[in-house]
Amino acid sequence: MTAKVLDGKKIAANIRAEIGEEVESFVSQTGIVPHLSAVLVGENPASEVYVRNKQRACDEAGIASGLHRLADTATQSELLALIDELNQDRAVHGILVQLPLPEQIAEAEIQEAICPSKDVDAFHPENVGRMVQGKPRFLPCTPQGIQQLLVREGIEIAGRRVVVIGRSDIVGKPIACMLSNRGTGGDATVTLCHSKTEALDSIAREAEILIVAIGQPEFVTAAMVRQGAVVIDVGIHRTDDGLVGDVDYAAVSQIAGAITPVPGGVGPLTVAMLLRNTLRAAELSAGS
Ligand code: NAD
Repeated sequence: MTAKVLDGKKIAANIRAEIGEEVESFVSQTGIVPHLSAVLVGENPASEVYVRNKQRACDEAGIASGLHRLADTATQSELLALIDELNQDRAVHGILVQLPLPEQIAEAEIQEAICPSKDVDAFHPENVGRMVQGKPRFLPCTPQGIQQLLVREGIEIAGRRVVVIGRSDIVGKPIACMLSNRGTGGDATVTLCHSKTEALDSIAREAEILIVAIGQPEFVTAAMVRQGAVVIDVGIHRTDDGLVGDVDYAAVSQIAGAITPVPGGVGPLTVAMLLRNTLRAAELSAGS
């Protein structure tokens, strides 16, 4: 069996086109142009690429974007002062502080400083709490992208056995929560695995939908995958042979029923969802 390839790039392009239309009608109704402000601290090459891609995507969707750069020696108070300025700026609807931050910066304090109604990454505790309670303001971008991919591919989620490997705050924990919440795109039975999980292979083999976000290249082998499972690979690693994910794609695609490629799977959806959240932030600020 060769797995169906879940084309995240194509689905993301569709979503971005939909958002472009929604932005156009929002601007014509309100005269307000949604605006995303990105903050980049230091010169991490991968972060530079991510921020550039996000700005290009904003441009294409008719969303205005700004970039605020701080040196990698920036202090906590300098970054907090910049966030305060963006929080106060009524023309700014979404604020994104690109991670990772230099080690002198306490990430949690920065995330909490962003006004929750401008927190388009949805990392602020208030937005995390709202998501957990099933009444989100914004959903975090990568998990929201995974959920959209499953829904738009017509993959049944309700009642399915889902195994998530990785418990990060930005992917593993929120996707486990979102897929087990009530309602469309939820109602699954979810197991969340991590570095202390025992018998990981056999738990992973129970999954009808297996979501992998552990940050270890090609960690998931064919022996860990149930025949016909849907496999979502969140990992991204630069190697001499190009980009690879957390899943051994060549072997697992012989066992799985459907699989996301790397690149071209989850990554493009993350950017699309950032646009979705920025438009939502602008709508909320306009009271619509
Ligand atoms: P992270 O690095 O913050 O955390 C890794 C998690 O994996 C931890 O919870 C840990 O418990 C678990 N883990 C590590 N080794 C394990 C093992 N041997 N067995 C079981 N669990 C183990 O993770 P992250 O930030 O979610 O990132 C994961 C990967 O996804 C990275 O490659 C990252 O680059 C990528 N990523 C991609 C996107 C995207 O848009 N495609 C977005 C975010 C992250």
